[in-house]
Amino acid sequence: MTSTTATSIKGLMKSFGGAPVLDSIDLDIAAGERVAIIGPSGTGKSTFLRCINYLDRPDAGQISIGDLTVDAAHARRSDILGLRRRTGFVFQNYALFANKTAVENIMEALVTVQRLSKTEAAMRARAVLDDIGLADKANSYPASLSGGQQQRVGIGRAMALNADLLLFDEPTSALDPELVGEVLDLMRRVAERRQTILIVTHEMQFAREIADRIVFMHGGRIVEQGTPAQIFDAPQDPRLRQFLARIG
Ligand code: ADP
Ligand code: MG
Repeated sequence: MTSTTATSIKGLMKSFGGAPVLDSIDLDIAAGERVAIIGPSGTGKSTFLRCINYLDRPDAGQISIGDLTVDAAHARRSDILGLRRRTGFVFQNYALFANKTAVENIMEALVTVQRLSKTEAAMRARAVLDDIGLADKANSYPASLSGGQQQRVGIGRAMALNADLLLFDEPTSALDPELVGEVLDLMRRVAERRQTILIVTHEMQFAREIADRIVFMHGGRIVEQGTPAQIFDAPQDPRLRQFLARIG
C-alpha cells in the first residue's frame, strides 16, 4: 500500500447556484503524507473532497494525482474515471450498498472501476475483511452490522483499491460515541501504513495524533496550515483561534 505519487490541487473553484463555495484552493500533498482538514461547518470541506474525485464537478482548477493531471474546466470522461481510479473515498454515512453483503461492497469498485475479475476482486476483498477484523461478517448485509462495523467496511472498501490518495469525510461523525473508537483504531492503522491521506475530521485529538499537517478552511479558502503543534498550540489567524476556542 505504499505509493510514490503526490497530489497537487491548484486554483480549485466551485459554486452552487452562483454561490461560491470553494474559492481557489491550492494544496499539495506529498506521497505518504497525512493531511487533516478542519474548519467550521458549511465552509466547503466536503465539497473540496468531493471535487477531487468528481463526486461534485469543480468549475475550474487543476487536479493532479500521480501521473494524471486533469484540467477541471475541460475534464473528459476518461479523466474523471482516472481520478476515481486513483482515489478511495470514505463517507460520513458509510454509503454502503444496502443490497450487497460486506464482501460484495468491497468487490464492487474493484470490478467496475478497477476492472479486476470477480475472482480476483473476491480474493482481495476477503483479505481486506480479514485485515480489518471482519472476516466473519463477509456475507452480512449492512443492516445487520453496527454503525462501527459498517464504517469499517467503508474504510476497507477504500483500502482495497490500493489508491494513491484516500479521502475521508468525517468518517466518525455519524457514529454513536461508543462506536467511534473502533473506527479511529482502524484509521490509525491505515495512517501508520504511510498511505497518502486527506481527511476532514472534527476529532481534533485524532488529527493531532495522525496528521503530518493540519489545514484550516474557512469560507471556502485555506486560511492557515501547519504542523499539529503550530495549528493547535500557536494558531495565528483570528478565525482559527475563534474556531479552536469554540470547539475546545
Ligand atoms: P462542510 O463540509 O465544510 O460543512 P460543505 O462542503 O458541505 O461544507 O458545504 C459548503 C456549502 O456548499 C454550504 O453552504 C452548502 O450548503 C453548500 N452545498 C454543498 N453541497 C451542495 C449542493 N449539492 N447543492 C447546493 N449547495 C451545496
Ligand atoms: Mg462536510
